[in-house]
Amino acid sequence: MMNRRQFVCASASAALLARTPRAFAATYDLVIKGGRVIDSSVGLDAVRDIAIAGGRIAAVEANITADAAETIDARGKIVAPGLIDIHTHAARTKEGPPLALLDGVTGWVDAGSAGADNVDAMAAVARGAPQIGRLLINIARTGTAPGGELNNLNAANVALARGAIARHRDVVVGVKARLSESVAGANDLEALRRAQEAAAPFNLPVMIHVGQNYSPMRAILALLKRGDIVTHMYAPGKNGILDEQGRLFPDVTAARRRGIIFDFGNGVGGHFDWATVEKATKQGFWPDTFSTDWNPMSKTTGVVDFPNVMSKFIMFGMPLNQIVACATMNAARVFPSFDDRGTLNIGAPADMAIMELRDGSFEFVDNYKGTRTARQRLFPAGTVLAGKLVKSV
Ligand SMILES: [Zn+2]
Repeated sequence: MMNRRQFVCASASAALLARTPRAFAATYDLVIKGGRVIDSSVGLDAVRDIAIAGGRIAAVEANITADAAETIDARGKIVAPGLIDIHTHAARTKEGPPLALLDGVTGWVDAGSAGADNVDAMAAVARGAPQIGRLLINIARTGTAPGGELNNLNAANVALARGAIARHRDVVVGVKARLSESVAGANDLEALRRAQEAAAPFNLPVMIHVGQNYSPMRAILALLKRGDIVTHMYAPGKNGILDEQGRLFPDVTAARRRGIIFDFGNGVGGHFDWATVEKATKQGFWPDTFSTDWNPMSKTTGVVDFPNVMSKFIMFGMPLNQIVACATMNAARVFPSFDDRGTLNIGAPADMAIMELRDGSFEFVDNYKGTRTARQRLFPAGTVLAGKLVKSV
């Protein structure tokens, strides 16, 4: 695996993407030639051409020679299904979604920026986004608030949250609760119960943000159901996933076995440190999904972009096809809105992230100013959305 990856990467500094427009009617709208196609949904990791017609994948073959209105030379690049980021704050401004699209993100979920009081504006951003945008409504009516939106438990109003979900069924796909002690004080478990109560009539999942919690992880996990999501899984400090000896709590692995999803959630403050990632992954506890906790300012933080977040797990030795799976197929399975995404199957909507895996010396930062240097990093190199190239470098 490692040898093959290095071999492919050796040629990765090659050509820039080139567009070749043609004037006549063609068999295909677009052909992406010669990329390393990684489609975890069918276990494919090989050099392939991809043909697109009518916004959908029409063929994935070793050599497609039929006419195309446009051809992209992707030699030396990775071509993957479009990235799906299940924890962002992309809906805070209407500029967010198009920015994320440039990083290869063809689907995103805004995780709790808005609560019942301010969801209408963010729902409008989601509906107006170029790619699929969805929201988790914060159980706190204010949405995320600097002082901690759940310190006053009255903010967790089930009736208001349900009303907001009912108003925005087309874009609200779950409920978010931030449970850190700095956000919820001793209210974490009751806030989570109310989040479940708000979600239940709609059969929606709950995403919890953990890290430096007031209550023990086992008490929190006990309130989660199949399909719920734990973001910031590697948050260090009090009441995380590891015991004082650095061993995974059995409740954590048991939660995964009963269908709880564990999400990376990069973010900027308190959400992960290298030591926790290292201890947990050495015990086989890898993320089900990556997410960035992205916002429009993330270029200048440790997040940078989604491929940068993925690259941290190359450094920890996760195979690239598994990394792509976490960022595409696995994320698509979390929310029904992404049912036909995360794949390059024939007939699927033609959303793709084109990335370049560069060799060199790259510094990554955790949320505690810890830095690590790696020899490889993925860079966004192009995005295809509904069969149209939206960016080329
Ligand atoms: Zn967040």
